[in-house]
Amino acid sequence: MSNYGLRKRVMVTGGAGFLGSHLCERLLGDGHDVLCVDNFFTGTRDNILPLLENPHFEVIRHDVTFPLYVEVDEIYNLACPASPVHYQADPVQTTKTCVHGTINMLGLAKRVKAKILQASTSEVYGDPAEHPQTESYWGNVNPIGPRSCYDEGKRCAETLFFDYRRQHGLRIKVARIFNTYGPRMHPNDGRVVSNFIVQALSARPITIYGDGLQTRSFCYVSDLVDGLIRLMDTPDDFAGPVNLGNPVEFTIGELATRVVALSASGSAIEYKSLPVDDPRQRKPDIALAEAKLSWRPSVGLEAGLADTIAYFKALLARDPAASGRR
Ligand code: NAD
Ligand code: UDP
Ligand code: UDP
Repeated sequence: MSNYGLRKRVMVTGGAGFLGSHLCERLLGDGHDVLCVDNFFTGTRDNILPLLENPHFEVIRHDVTFPLYVEVDEIYNLACPASPVHYQADPVQTTKTCVHGTINMLGLAKRVKAKILQASTSEVYGDPAEHPQTESYWGNVNPIGPRSCYDEGKRCAETLFFDYRRQHGLRIKVARIFNTYGPRMHPNDGRVVSNFIVQALSARPITIYGDGLQTRSFCYVSDLVDGLIRLMDTPDDFAGPVNLGNPVEFTIGELATRVVALSASGSAIEYKSLPVDDPRQRKPDIALAEAKLSWRPSVGLEAGLADTIAYFKALLARDPAASGRR
């Protein structure tokens, strides 16, 4: 029984990160008690500063690779560095977070009979041989490359989720999140949207890796958070996995052109070498999300980029070191 049954107690691991902080904000707005669990590896207190005054919000500094004993009704498991720069900085810790962290959160969910949602990723499809990617595609993943700590870690986390369901009857939900962007992305995490915007705003060259013809589909953060909440609210017999992302596909070159135009920047384009195992194309098939969650993204790239550019402009004015130039 939660708070005399009045409010749901929802835990968000990775709650001080980019997606997690928006999710915490939305859950508080929906009238729940929110427990944010984060070790602040890539997240920051700044992301949750406005929430700290809310009496229904609580933060624990904790690394999910260690056991955690709390009483909650629902768990959103987002803890994990998400950008290649960060997840490759300590790849063993990344795998531990994906595997040990997930086992601990599943153990917790089992003990308190909580419903638990996993923030999985389109990276489980690797460099996909099928396009667009449907949930039934098993992927094309290198098990021993520099991206493997994340890709294989997340694949193993999905396995654990489905085994806890089969073996222990847990109520689980698995979301495969495609590239998502918006305010509170880490300015130096190397992801393409934050990189391009910070470069454009600081009049540095826009770095395109490879020929810029590789594709991605970019989902705005508010759409993604809405998808996660809808997924958590589906009937217990629906576990997913379900793709969440914006199916409108752009080349990285097109993204660069749009960011430069929207930032009114004079930045030139600079071509750099393509990282190892960089997926050539990526676009979600979201028919399952449309059918099961009645969900589809509503924010287009121009509007989402404009909000994100405004956020980074304010951030760089407040803290010029955030541009990565020291
Ligand atoms: P982020 O780096 O901003 O957030 C991750 C959060 O997890 C950070 O606050 C970090 O400090 C915390 N964290 C990392 N390791 C931890 C640990 N061992 N214990 C406790 N906290 C830990 O990244 P994000 O973009 O907000 O991603 C959130 C989740 O969504 C991740 O699981 C990521 O894999 C997934 N995801 C994100 C995207 C995207 O495009 N943003 C795409 C696919 C999947
Ligand atoms: N666990 C946790 N919090 C809890 C319950 C379990 O962190 O409230 C951890 C516990 O440390 C264990 C893991 O979750 O290592 C898996 O728990 P489970 O009960 O599934 O397995 P077991 O304890 O039998 O290994
Ligand atoms: N990318 C780029 N310039 C940058 C950062 C990224 O051209 O400054 C490319 C990267 O090689 C990849 C795409 O943009 O093809 C998306 O990269 P990101 O790291 O954001 O996401 P992921 O590769 O994990 O989808």
